Amino acid sequence: MASGGGNNRNGTHRNSLKGTTTTSTASTDKPLSVNSNPSKPAFKNKSSPLTGASSGLRKSSPGSLGGGAAKDDAGVPGRVRVAVRLRPRNAEESVADADFADCVELQPELKRLKLRKNNWDTDTYEFDEVLTEFASQKRVYEVVAKPVVEGVLDGYNGTIMAYGQTGTGKTYTLGRLGEEDTANRGIMVRAMEDILAEVSPEIDSVLVSYLQLYMESLQDLLDPTNDNISIVEEPKSGDVSLPGATLVEIRDQQSFLELLRLGEAHRHAANTKLNTESSRSHALLMVHVKRTVKGREPAHSSDNGNSTSMARSLRPPLVRKGKLVVVDLAGSERIDKSGSDGHTREEAKSINLSLSALGKCINALAENSAHVPVRDSKLTRLLRDSFGGTARTSLVITVGPSPRHRGETASTIMFGQRAMKVENMLKLKEEFDYKSLARRLDIQLDKLIMEHERKQKAFEVEIERITAEAQNRISEAERNYADAVEKERLKYQKDYMESIKKLEEKWMMNQQNQGNERKEQMVHIAEEVAEVKKLLSKETSLRKAAEEEVDNLKSQLAQLKMSEALANSEILKLQKMVEDEVCQKEKLEGEISMLQSQLLHLSFEADETRKRLDRGGPGKVPGGLDSPVSQVRSQLKDSGNGEKASVAKLFEQVGLQKILSLLEAEDADVRIHAVKVVANLAAEETNQQKIVEAGGLKSLLMLLGSSEDETIHRVAAGAIANLAMNEKNQELVMSQGGISLLSTTASHAKDPQTLRMVAGAIANLCGNDKLQTKLRGEGGIKALLEIVKCGHPDVLAQVARGIANFAKCESRASTQGSKTGRSLLIEDGALPWIVQNANSDASPIRRHTELALCHLAQHEVNAKDMISEGALWELVRISQDCPREDIRTLAHRTLASSPDFIAGLKRLRIDY
Ligand code: ADP
Ligand code: MG
Repeated sequence: MASGGGNNRNGTHRNSLKGTTTTSTASTDKPLSVNSNPSKPAFKNKSSPLTGASSGLRKSSPGSLGGGAAKDDAGVPGRVRVAVRLRPRNAEESVADADFADCVELQPELKRLKLRKNNWDTDTYEFDEVLTEFASQKRVYEVVAKPVVEGVLDGYNGTIMAYGQTGTGKTYTLGRLGEEDTANRGIMVRAMEDILAEVSPEIDSVLVSYLQLYMESLQDLLDPTNDNISIVEEPKSGDVSLPGATLVEIRDQQSFLELLRLGEAHRHAANTKLNTESSRSHALLMVHVKRTVKGREPAHSSDNGNSTSMARSLRPPLVRKGKLVVVDLAGSERIDKSGSDGHTREEAKSINLSLSALGKCINALAENSAHVPVRDSKLTRLLRDSFGGTARTSLVITVGPSPRHRGETASTIMFGQRAMKVENMLKLKEEFDYKSLARRLDIQLDKLIMEHERKQKAFEVEIERITAEAQNRISEAERNYADAVEKERLKYQKDYMESIKKLEEKWMMNQQNQGNERKEQMVHIAEEVAEVKKLLSKETSLRKAAEEEVDNLKSQLAQLKMSEALANSEILKLQKMVEDEVCQKEKLEGEISMLQSQLLHLSFEADETRKRLDRGGPGKVPGGLDSPVSQVRSQLKDSGNGEKASVAKLFEQVGLQKILSLLEAEDADVRIHAVKVVANLAAEETNQQKIVEAGGLKSLLMLLGSSEDETIHRVAAGAIANLAMNEKNQELVMSQGGISLLSTTASHAKDPQTLRMVAGAIANLCGNDKLQTKLRGEGGIKALLEIVKCGHPDVLAQVARGIANFAKCESRASTQGSKTGRSLLIEDGALPWIVQNANSDASPIRRHTELALCHLAQHEVNAKDMISEGALWELVRISQDCPREDIRTLAHRTLASSPDFIAGLKRLRIDY
């Protein structure tokens, strides 16, 4: 709408230079009211609103909005009423604008406002009410607000709103508490005073919420924590509600003032926190008034005059609900201005979003446009009922006088002009209060129930009383009857007793006459019968006891028989077991005796063989080192396959392990036989490994230590000698203390054959290169030199063989460099014996000692000792006389190459 567009239809009038005044108001200084006809009611295309309304029916409020209107569901048309209020010049303006006229000029009697364009031109606008700077707060209330408040009390929604530039007096008009001067009380305070004066506290209710809308967020001024309240619109009725907002019931003016103060404090705090001022937010006070309509007969009340009080009580009370919304809008300054104040554009946009949306809605409504953008902002959503809705709305636009703000003032005036064109459809919010009817009926019902209960109780008491009385009477009658009967009975009894007595007397007399004889007889018989009865009972009890005894014995007998049968079967079982055991034992005994006989047979054969061997003597076996083993072996060969076969058979049948275990048998004979069998087996090279693996060598060595029997010693030493032919076994013998066992055996031996076996065994060990040091360390050489004391040539031959073996190994080690220093044989004092026997008559002794000397002579370290012990002579003899050519040559070469020997020969003057 063009601001300057003079338009009669809109009630806006432009006063041109020509000063045309087109309209005049019908009334002067009349309270602003919906039905007070606008001077030029050119509202849209509708017929003239409320023209026929009966004005002045009730105070300033429209009578047409009474009961009759309530029935009209379509509502009553009511235009938005707009008043303009001019603020007086303030101190600053008085000084700054002292030389200038106000930018507006008011003609209150004509309800006109002239806006000065320049010194010679003004625009004239007509309003519903024009309030000068001298208008009192009371008058402003009465003109602007009172009709709306009265409408609310009658069940209409109402809105009072202030619009204008910051500082023009919106808050002054609406929110002033008037604490300093009661005359300054604003619209809010006065409205509540009127409301509280009208309502009945017992049946009506006044509930208040107080909110702030800032940057599209709705905050609860009564509960600052609640800062994002949502708006709920009821689709059917279009009613707007804020379920999240605090609702406080107001009962007196004082509490309302406190609530306003609290709200203001919270608003101040919230604005401080958000760094804003109240001029940038909208404040909304909502007052919900619910009133019960008194003394109204519903239209459908009973037609006949008999309507009972019950029927009346079934009628629900009629309640009217009105909502008063008082809105202190944010300052209407322009965006660019706000922005320039250092506020963000975002904030300015948001603040103005609601305001500009309100302007757009009002424009759309003023122009009767099809689309009203109500949903564009929260403010328009909240006020949808106030503009183009069902509420009665009064807008006060506030302007300042300063010509410096002419632009703002002009835009405010235009806003007001457009708002004047918005028409609402007022609707009475009247309904039957079924809840309170239900409550009332409940109370009535409870009363009736109580009444009924009371009556019931009284009735029951009466019944009880009558019953008790009847009972009393009955029992009295019964008592009387019983008394009478008892009397009658006593009388008859007495009569009866008397007649009986008489009869008895008669009878007695008769009896006496019949005599006393029979009486005595009767007594005697009775006594006898009693006696017999007694005897009979005694007999009976005795018989019973006997029967019990018999039963007892019978059961005992049965038990005994049973246990006897059990015992018999047990005995049979045991007998069977014993028989089995005996059988087993016999079998084993047979086996043992068979084995023993085989063993005896074998040992006998072995003894025979040994004797034959012994009888054969030394030197009879040709070739090599004539060890006893080879002798045995050859003898075994001679003796044919019979014996060998039996040993093998034994071996197979009995098993090596069993034979070896017999080495430890208790029985000395068995031990001897066992050791002989083992010795026989050990003579066979094929058995040696098996014997050793089965622990035979160990057992034999143990036997040397544990047994005192020389035969055992002899045979065991022989077996050990045989086993010690093998290099691995030699190490085993050594590691198991063989040297010490053998030398001990030798020291106790009396039989040269025992010594021969021991010496043979040691001689074999002497032939092992690896065992040289250990053997000597454990006294092997010393033991041999001990053994020679016996002097038996067979023994000496074995000793010589041992020494030759040892010398040979030592010589080999010296040549290889692993042995240095004098020969251990020389160390242990064997040299004299060697020299002494080097020319022995017994050829095995001579041969071995010669060989030993040659080996010793190989090494220069031994030369001096050999020379001093007289070995030089023997070496010379060997080099000349020895039947074996190889030995001869060896001796010769040695003597020729050794400087010591050569020197010794020279010293002895032996020409060589
Ligand atoms: P707004 O709410 O529009 O920003 P205020 O109500 O805060 O303006 O008014 C601004 C100043 O002007 C306040 O100091 C107020 O007391 C003063 N004022 C406003 N209107 C009047 C009036 N009609 N008479 C006297 N002083 C007024
Ligand atoms: Mg203000």
